[in-house]
Amino acid sequence: MTNIFSIASELNDGKSFKSGSNIELCPVCGTVLDCSVGAYCHDFEPKIKGFDISYSYEGVLVVSEKFKQVCLELGLGGLSFHSINQKDSLYALSVESVVEFDSITRKTRFVNKCEECGEYESVVGATPVILKEPISESTIEFYRTDLCFGTGRKKHWLIVVNDATKRELEKYNLKGLRFKKGFSECERLLKRHCQLKV
Ligand SMILES: [Zn+2]
Repeated sequence: MTNIFSIASELNDGKSFKSGSNIELCPVCGTVLDCSVGAYCHDFEPKIKGFDISYSYEGVLVVSEKFKQVCLELGLGGLSFHSINQKDSLYALSVESVVEFDSITRKTRFVNKCEECGEYESVVGATPVILKEPISESTIEFYRTDLCFGTGRKKHWLIVVNDATKRELEKYNLKGLRFKKGFSECERLLKRHCQLKV
């Protein structure tokens, strides 16, 4: 069985969607309607500095130049680095490969469906990450979940990696990078190995 992990990180608390930016939010529940990274601000300032990987206040994944260079060195494909702060060389990271999250087994809660946009006000219960299908054991790659988690405008997907990718990344001492064990197979194993909490 492939061991999988979600990437956890610190909060840098900077604002990604500043007033005046062209981000489109649902007027009722606040969900981001246009998730294209290009809509994020380009003068992003983290309140807490020094992380190689961290989340903004709204859950945008922000990475440093060092993190970008490590990804290039490891040959990680399917990633886009969108410059959001030229001065400090910070990037919003987007990930192409999508994996299906098993919200039924995880007992994820979908709270208050919004009549306006059809999304949910809150999606609660992201970790431990549980995928419907296993991912490759050996490919060095980032995957992202099809679901976004969180509340209102602060929703984001999770990045999922296999053991091999985790081991490679751990060699570089990237600040803010943490991993949380997930599961890709079978409720039977889940019931033995983890207590699900929402
Ligand atoms: Zn809405």
